[in-house]
Amino acid sequence: MKIHEYQAKQLLAQYSVPVAPGKVCTTPEEVRLSASEFCGGGNKCVVKAQIHSGGRGKAGGVKLAASPQQAFEIATSMLGSTLYTHQTGPEGRVVHKVLVTTAVSVRREFYLSITADNENAALVIVASADGGTEIEETAKTHPERIVQIPLSPVMGFKRYQAIRTARALGLAGPLEKELTSILSALSRLYVDKDCSLVEINPLVETDEGHLLCLDAKVNFDDNALFRHPEIVALRDVDEEDPREYRASQSDLSYVSLDGDIGCLVNGAGLAMATMDIIKGFGGAPANFLDVGGSATAEKVKAAFEIILSDTRVKAIFVNIFGGIMKCDIIAAGVVSAASELGLNVPLVVRLEGTNVDEGRRILSESGLNVIEASDMADGARKAVRAAKEARA
Ligand code: GDP
Ligand code: MN
Repeated sequence: MKIHEYQAKQLLAQYSVPVAPGKVCTTPEEVRLSASEFCGGGNKCVVKAQIHSGGRGKAGGVKLAASPQQAFEIATSMLGSTLYTHQTGPEGRVVHKVLVTTAVSVRREFYLSITADNENAALVIVASADGGTEIEETAKTHPERIVQIPLSPVMGFKRYQAIRTARALGLAGPLEKELTSILSALSRLYVDKDCSLVEINPLVETDEGHLLCLDAKVNFDDNALFRHPEIVALRDVDEEDPREYRASQSDLSYVSLDGDIGCLVNGAGLAMATMDIIKGFGGAPANFLDVGGSATAEKVKAAFEIILSDTRVKAIFVNIFGGIMKCDIIAAGVVSAASELGLNVPLVVRLEGTNVDEGRRILSESGLNVIEASDMADGARKAVRAAKEARA
C-alpha cells in the first residue's frame, strides 16, 4: 500500500525526523489561507501535488509561490488537473489534494532510503550524495554513486552503518549526528510499521546547516496491513485502481493488466498458467484473478462483477479446476452475476473436477450463451478468437 507525501511526512515527524512544516489542502481558498502562514515578506512557499507518484517536480507538480495569492493561483490550476509523470503511465493522475509547505534554501540534496534486500533476506540502506530529481539518471549512468549498506531487521540499526552512510554522503560532525538519528528513526519506522520502502528524496542540508526531509515516500507490505489499522486508515481510494480496490474488499487476489480477456480462475498457479496460455495463443489477459480455493457463490459473483465492470474486456475466460472449490459453486456465482448485470461479451468456460456435471448443468440450464471448452488449451484458443472477433 502507498500513502501520500504529506502522510509520510506526518509519520516521519512522529519518529522525530525533521520535516518542513506544511498543510494539506483540497481547495485554492484553503491554499491561500495556509500559504499566509508560510509565505510572504520575502519567504516563499511550495505548492506540491499529492498523488501516489514520484517525478512530480519534472511534471509541473511542485511549484514555488512568493505570496498567498500566487499560491492560490497555482493551486487553482493544479487542483483537478491531471499530472503525467514517468510513474503514472499514459493515463496520468488527477490531483485532488496539494501540500503547502515552507520553501527551504538548500545547500545540498541527498538520497536516503531503506528497503528490502530479498536476495540477502535483509534490509538495505540506500544512500547517495546525488539526491533530487535526477536519482534515476544517476542510477543508470553512475551506479557507483549510490551506496548500499546492509541492515539486519533483527539486530536493528548499528552505529557503524551510520558512519558508513555519513561517509557516503560526505557528512561529518554535527551533521553526521543528525544523520544518525534520522537513520535510526527510519529503521524503527520500517520495522514497526512493516514497510516495504521508506525513502527521503531529497534529504537536504539547509542553508542554516541542518538536515531536513523535503520529500518522503513510505510503502507498506500489504500482507502485514491487518496488524496496522492506523495505516489502513491512511488509504486513499482515489489513487487506487477501482477494480483492485473492490477486489480487496471482497478478499480476492486481482491485478489489473492491459489486455482484453477477463480471467476468472481458482488458484494462483492456475491463474498464472491461464495468462501464459492466453499469451501463447496470441491474446492478452485483462487481469490476474484468483478466486481462491474455498470461494462462495457470492465471492465468485463479486469477481465476475469486477471483470464485467472492465469496459476493455472483450471476452471472458472462466478456467476452473475444482478441487476444494466445487464447480457448481462457480457456475452458480457466474450465472447469478451474469443474469443480474447482463452479459455483453462472449463467455468461455472450462470446468473440470469436483461436481463438474452439476456445474455444467447449472450453466446450460441458465440460458446464458456459454462457449464450452473441453480443456484449458481449447478454452484459451476460443477466448482469444472471441476477443479478436469482438475487436473486429
Ligand atoms: P518529486 O519530483 O515528486 O520527487 O517531488 P519533490 O518533493 O522531491 O520535489 C522535486 C524537487 O523540487 C526537489 O528535488 C527539490 O529540488 C525541489 N524542491 C522541493 N521543495 C523545495 C524547497 O522547499 N526548496 C527548494 N530549494 N527546493 C525544493
Ligand atoms: Mn522527490
